[in-house]
Amino acid sequence: MRRDDFPQLSDTVYGKPLVYLDNAATTQRPRAMVEAMTRAYYHCNANIHRGVHHLSQQATVNHEAARKRVANYLGALSEKEIIFTKGTTDSLNMLAFSFGEAMVNEGDEIIVSRLEHHSNIVPWQMLCQRKRATLKVLPLDASLTIDTTALNSLITERTRLVSVAMVSNVLGTIQPVEQVIRIAHNRNIPVCIDGAQAAPHLPVNVRELDCDFFVCSAHKMYGPTGMGILYGKEEWLDRLPPAQGGGEMIEHVRFERTTYNVLPYKFEAGTPDFIGSCAFAAALDYIDNLGRDAVYAYEDELTCYMEQQLAAIPEVHIYAAGAQKAGAVSFNVYQGERLIHPFDIGTLLDRQGVAVRTGHHCAEPLIDYLGVPGTVRASIALYNDHSDVDRLCEALRRAIAMLS
Ligand code: PMP
Repeated sequence: MRRDDFPQLSDTVYGKPLVYLDNAATTQRPRAMVEAMTRAYYHCNANIHRGVHHLSQQATVNHEAARKRVANYLGALSEKEIIFTKGTTDSLNMLAFSFGEAMVNEGDEIIVSRLEHHSNIVPWQMLCQRKRATLKVLPLDASLTIDTTALNSLITERTRLVSVAMVSNVLGTIQPVEQVIRIAHNRNIPVCIDGAQAAPHLPVNVRELDCDFFVCSAHKMYGPTGMGILYGKEEWLDRLPPAQGGGEMIEHVRFERTTYNVLPYKFEAGTPDFIGSCAFAAALDYIDNLGRDAVYAYEDELTCYMEQQLAAIPEVHIYAAGAQKAGAVSFNVYQGERLIHPFDIGTLLDRQGVAVRTGHHCAEPLIDYLGVPGTVRASIALYNDHSDVDRLCEALRRAIAMLS
């Protein structure tokens, strides 16, 4: 699909054509997104919301149109439910602070799963320390999937929120979040979905999912860095206090008392990234122009092909083999009983022009559970194709031969 739209992909590494399979960390950016960003900087650059002059008003219109675009892309009921943040990590920290202030007291409980990214663990852990609350961990079943049957017994009358990933950033596996949401809602518990790895691959619709909060990062979706989304149902965002104070988020400021702005501005203190929002909207247009269902079908086939081809290498052990995945496959290489350190594999692949990610992938509790020092993760995007996978497997075979 449209490799030519991504200038970075025609570069070489160590004199070899680049095979970029580190998309779960960040995607490459299409020309259309970068051009939208340049256009906004060159021709629509003025601070928004407060200006009476033409340029400020035009920049405001563009920023708010981008918000509408994101709301539409994620299936939100209203653009009031879309808060621009710096990324998934920022969204989760904001939510943990704001939700924690309003909803969590000593002795309360927050539930996350064993496979979460540190971003969906540490902010909740910090909240629990602050409030003397307890962080509870949903276990995984034998196939490394969130064990939804354990959720019912984990929830108590002190549970305030469940926060889980829709797609594991380590394993690439699609998690049963619909079930998590159903079970939690039956007990009147709200659910936050970490969609950082889901939004780039799956046709997510927050209204159909019925999640209470959803977070994602633009840079994993062909958009700009430093831009992310915190979606929250209006009824929730209305109840929660702002996470930060400053300009934009206020209605009136008096030394005695400050009143806050309406949604979504209550959660957007300071000058927002009105350039990034336009660029993000252009990235979403780019995906929609290709067709989200077509992108999903294309990537699904490619992910299956990648898993099949890797599984055909006898030294390769794939994690969550056979489970339904979205974009990523994690593995390790064994020579007999001996695990070849993932860094060694990553380095030998890099020398052959193949970029993959190695290590704990910011999910140390899961990596500890797997009992390994890390994994090698190959992750695809819409511009990858079978030839990239073939080059990965050739390079891997050569690396294994060098190490034996
Ligand atoms: N959650 C998941 C599942 C992720 O994959 C990532 C990024 N690796 C994050 C959270 C954090 O995203 P960011 O670094 O863009 O804030």
